[in-house]
Amino acid sequence: MKKGQTCLLHVLFLVFLTGAAINLPAQSMARVHEKAIVVDTHNDCLTGLVLEGKDLATRLNTGHSDLYRWKKGGLDLQFFSVWTDKMPRNKEGFFQDALQEIDSLHRIILRNPDRMTTGDSFREIKRRAHKDKLVSLIGVEGGHMIENDLAKLDSLYALGMKYLTLTWNNSTDWASSAMDETLHPERLKQKGLTPFGKQVVERLNELGVMVDLSHVGEQTFYDAIAVSKKPVILSHSSVWSICPVFRNVKDDQIRAVANNGGVICINFYSGFISREYDQVQKTLLLEKEKFMLSLAGVPVPDSLYSMKKWEYKYDSIMNATRPSLEQLVDHIDYIVKLVGDRYVGIGSDYDGVGSVPVGLEDVTTYPKITEELIHRGYSNKSIKRILGGNVLRVMKANFSR
Ligand SMILES: [Zn+2]
Repeated sequence: MKKGQTCLLHVLFLVFLTGAAINLPAQSMARVHEKAIVVDTHNDCLTGLVLEGKDLATRLNTGHSDLYRWKKGGLDLQFFSVWTDKMPRNKEGFFQDALQEIDSLHRIILRNPDRMTTGDSFREIKRRAHKDKLVSLIGVEGGHMIENDLAKLDSLYALGMKYLTLTWNNSTDWASSAMDETLHPERLKQKGLTPFGKQVVERLNELGVMVDLSHVGEQTFYDAIAVSKKPVILSHSSVWSICPVFRNVKDDQIRAVANNGGVICINFYSGFISREYDQVQKTLLLEKEKFMLSLAGVPVPDSLYSMKKWEYKYDSIMNATRPSLEQLVDHIDYIVKLVGDRYVGIGSDYDGVGSVPVGLEDVTTYPKITEELIHRGYSNKSIKRILGGNVLRVMKANFSR
């Protein structure tokens, strides 16, 4: 063999090796992701359907989610959050708001029978979860939607509610929220669960609806976990020790969830993932207040122009402060190191948050989490648990059928 031929073969061999080195992890990532039942326990896009008439069946240029992108992200099961603000949007009240959001989900499922489905019993859901259609389930985000009435809770259950978040940011008459317990204690009528609040938890257990403790205050958290006979879920919360904000959970809470057999699903919001993001945001918002005050007396067109410039500056600083995908996986890692790999999952809060980590821009990006977990040396078994297996275990323990 001539020297030139040897060189060429050598180069070809190196190209082959390099190609293999690049492709192999990608292939194994795709295989692991494909084999797992991938579950996201919190997405807020229904509000966009109701208020803005969004159609998830089309490829949307805005927001985080649509049917095309879910498929690309390899998602098998999505919990859709039924949400309304602390003031009702319909004159009939919060319960009517919930019905409107539930209707919007049912409609989109009916219109897209080839791409979406739902399920009732655990067995049915599990069977459908690894096929080609997105299994779409309902989580009601905020106890205010039952309007202090167990009959309304029963109705929401009959319409498909699979979890109830006891509070959103607003406390109910029977449960205090994390926001009120920590930031606005003056708003509280009571701290924790009232006797009626305990009845709500018992009723959820009886019906086979998961008790969701995201958004609730620490007192409500411990009261509910003491009453619940079933494993609880935190549908979209991250780790307080990494990012100490009112919506994240402390180490003792993580241990309590593990003792209860429940699951904490990590929220992707930049301000819950990165302490730096949270602090920069708080500083800028204070600056904004001062800036607004300085505009008093300035003619309206000039002040509007100044505000726009300020907003632009704010957006560019906050965008540059977004955490990395690795920082998000640090939250998963933290829980695994503290209590093991059976108590953590994914609860993105897509379409409910204004900023997400770099690399996790929308629902197409779930495989990047899988890739990072492989990179960190997680076993396939652990990854399957984190991507959805843990949530499925909690669903099975709760659902009555
Ligand atoms: Zn929320």
